[in-house]
Amino acid sequence: MIAEVAVDAPLSKEREVFDYLIPESLGDRLVRGSRVIVPFGRRKVEGYVLRIKGESPYSPLKEIEALLGEEPPLSEEMIELAQWVAKRYFSPLYASLQAMVPSPLRAKYERWIRWNREYDEMPLIVLPEEEEILTYIREKGSLSYKSLLKKFPRADSLLPLFLERKTILEETRIRDGARGKREKLVERKVNPDVLKEALDTLPGTATKQRRILTLFLEEERFPLKEILSRAEALPENLNPLVSKGLLRITEHEVLRDPTKTVFPPDLPKALTPEQGEVYRKILAAYEKEKEPKPFLLHGITGSGKTEVYLQVIQKMRERGKDAIVLVPEISLTPLMVERFKRRFGEEVALLHSALSDGERYDEWRRIMRGDAHVVVGARSAIFAPVQDLGVIIIDEEHETTYKQEENPRYHAKEVAMERARRHKSLLILGSATPSMESYAHAKAGRITLLHLDKRVGQGVLPTVHVVDLRQEMREGHRSMFSRLLLQKMKERLERKEQMILLLNRRGYSTFVLCRSCGHTMECPHCDITLTYHQTSHSLRCHYCGHEEKMVEECPQCHSRSIRQLGVGTEKIEEELKAHFSGIRVIRMDQDTTSRKGAHERLLSSFGREEADVLLGTQMIAKGLDFPKVTLVGLILADIGLHQADFRAAERTFQLITQVAGRAGRHQLPGEVVVQSYSPEHYSIQLGAAQDYRKFFDHEIRIRKKGGYPPFYRLTLIHFEHEEIPVLVKAIQRFAEELRTYLSGDTVVLGPAPSQITRIKDRYRYHCMVKYKNEPKLMDHLKRALENLDAIIEKNGIQVHIDMDPQVYF
Ligand code: ADP
Ligand code: ZN
Ligand code: ZN
Repeated sequence: MIAEVAVDAPLSKEREVFDYLIPESLGDRLVRGSRVIVPFGRRKVEGYVLRIKGESPYSPLKEIEALLGEEPPLSEEMIELAQWVAKRYFSPLYASLQAMVPSPLRAKYERWIRWNREYDEMPLIVLPEEEEILTYIREKGSLSYKSLLKKFPRADSLLPLFLERKTILEETRIRDGARGKREKLVERKVNPDVLKEALDTLPGTATKQRRILTLFLEEERFPLKEILSRAEALPENLNPLVSKGLLRITEHEVLRDPTKTVFPPDLPKALTPEQGEVYRKILAAYEKEKEPKPFLLHGITGSGKTEVYLQVIQKMRERGKDAIVLVPEISLTPLMVERFKRRFGEEVALLHSALSDGERYDEWRRIMRGDAHVVVGARSAIFAPVQDLGVIIIDEEHETTYKQEENPRYHAKEVAMERARRHKSLLILGSATPSMESYAHAKAGRITLLHLDKRVGQGVLPTVHVVDLRQEMREGHRSMFSRLLLQKMKERLERKEQMILLLNRRGYSTFVLCRSCGHTMECPHCDITLTYHQTSHSLRCHYCGHEEKMVEECPQCHSRSIRQLGVGTEKIEEELKAHFSGIRVIRMDQDTTSRKGAHERLLSSFGREEADVLLGTQMIAKGLDFPKVTLVGLILADIGLHQADFRAAERTFQLITQVAGRAGRHQLPGEVVVQSYSPEHYSIQLGAAQDYRKFFDHEIRIRKKGGYPPFYRLTLIHFEHEEIPVLVKAIQRFAEELRTYLSGDTVVLGPAPSQITRIKDRYRYHCMVKYKNEPKLMDHLKRALENLDAIIEKNGIQVHIDMDPQVYF
């Protein structure tokens, strides 16, 4: 028999699926979805079996080398979904298949070296320094490159020579990370009476053995670690007891539970009339529609969206259906997890990046085996192998983290639509600030729009003050805290309440701003903020490639205080301490949260009121719920506003709304201070008013005028190479050819430099397709790239395609 295998082939290879012979030894153990090791060129690579068949047009065929794991990790649905992802996002099939499984199931390649047995009988005629290493390799037979280097660091420079002489051979080994955690148990092999007798015959000096046996009089088994610590004994004290046949040691697989705590269950809350209506509409769609239309639940922060999700899921569970809940990584807080665990207990599986590989693998297997039915996780949880999907929920649906920025460059929202369609399940997108795209679709009727306009309980929306930083400067106040913010902070310290200070730095790029009038430099063709490039001391547009000289004075007010803007959390912390002596600050940014668990530790410390201020980047903007927080300060709203991105206004509006939602969620009323150099900007004004609908109406006109999504779609083709001329020429040829395939409405922009123009000495440029309707776009792109293949191959240019990019790198 023959297996079609999607292999981990280099990206440049045209084919990704190859035929292999199935050796007899594997025979019927190999099925569709099996993970295998196959020879590929001179290497060994991992692959997934896509199909088993009787014949192949190719010959001679190589044999499959090994099967990894007995149960196939991929179900039919997952294989089909991976094929869909690969096609839709122009990504390698193997990478798409891999996206379906947790990381421990992804092969890790290791370089190994092996002694060439042909040289066994020959004397080594080599230099003394070589001899030592070769003798070592000969003794070992084979070993990993890494462990050899550890022992002989100088082996690195000698290996090429050995390889050339063929005294040693090289191979790639695949390490299978898919192992459950095993735990050793010690069990009593005889009944307590026999044990008692044995205890009596033990010499009095064997105190440790005696302590062990005494413990077994009461209980039948202990984990090895536990019995040793309780008896204060060592493993060797167990051995005689085992050899006497009194005890035995066994090994069991244990599943790691990422949240060890068991939460007290809570009951569904009686829904408010508003919630009730939303809930009924969602379930009615499930009952009545063959393929229920997706829902967009637009509900202000604290309006009880999560409670609606919980109750919809519960209804699905009663019918034996499974649920997937996606939340942005940063809002996967312990609080959020607790709410789901309280309602669904053991049925909840968590999938997110803060789990260890092992934990994630175990959670994934619990889903696979049908032990967990409610999956709560970040983006990749959309591929959770639930069998009978009833509902998918995407909370904070506007978040950019739902888009994966590496192969496969999928959008979890789109994958969710695809899975929901296949399962005829519900899909609920929820947000206080829906993305322009989703809301526009909802208004056009492609998605059903639902609203929650009131906060549950006595929570009221906080008052938002917008401070004009230009005014502050004109009046000689140069601190990064305005006078209003300083006064409000002082009040909080006196009243012993807490505050959150936020510095938005996501996708931070250097833009140029006039500190006197707030003017920023924009592209004359795109209405998009120009980005400052230090190397060329110029301003450039990342959409169309427009470039101009850096200005010396503000074109609007002729002030010379126009320059790049940058502030960091550390600097703010310093200044806070200078203003208020003894102020207790918890800083949360990349630096302080890089270690595992740091995030939770800092947050819970703030929750215990061990600090007055929580200071951080946007990672603290959402999902937090602290009763004592009555003030939120946004240090510089403009940072978000002047990103080189047509979504800048939308992001700024979202941020202010989210931030405002953090204050005054409980009895104490909240206040928000937003500082800005352009306080009159509609995104800041409407964010402060927390008026989503008005914002949408305003923004949608701008998108229409500029020809941006949702009116047009964008696809980015990204190229990388060491030399700019090569890159630009390749992109020009590509764009030229592509234009001939596309319809009249479609434009191809570029070449333009990417936001990060150079990484590791490779330049990054792109061109962008802006289109309304190009059903065959992927085919056209493929064709244009194939025709460019010779140039790409020859020069080693790297290319990838990004559909509907969310972030413009
Ligand atoms: P959102 O997800 O829209 O921010 P939540 O579902 O978190 O809103 O609700 C906000 C708060 O109100 C939570 O503390 C939640 O437990 C509570 N809550 C939600 N719905 C109800 C209800 N029907 N009755 C009582 N409390 C509720
Ligand atoms: Zn100016
Ligand atoms: Zn431009």
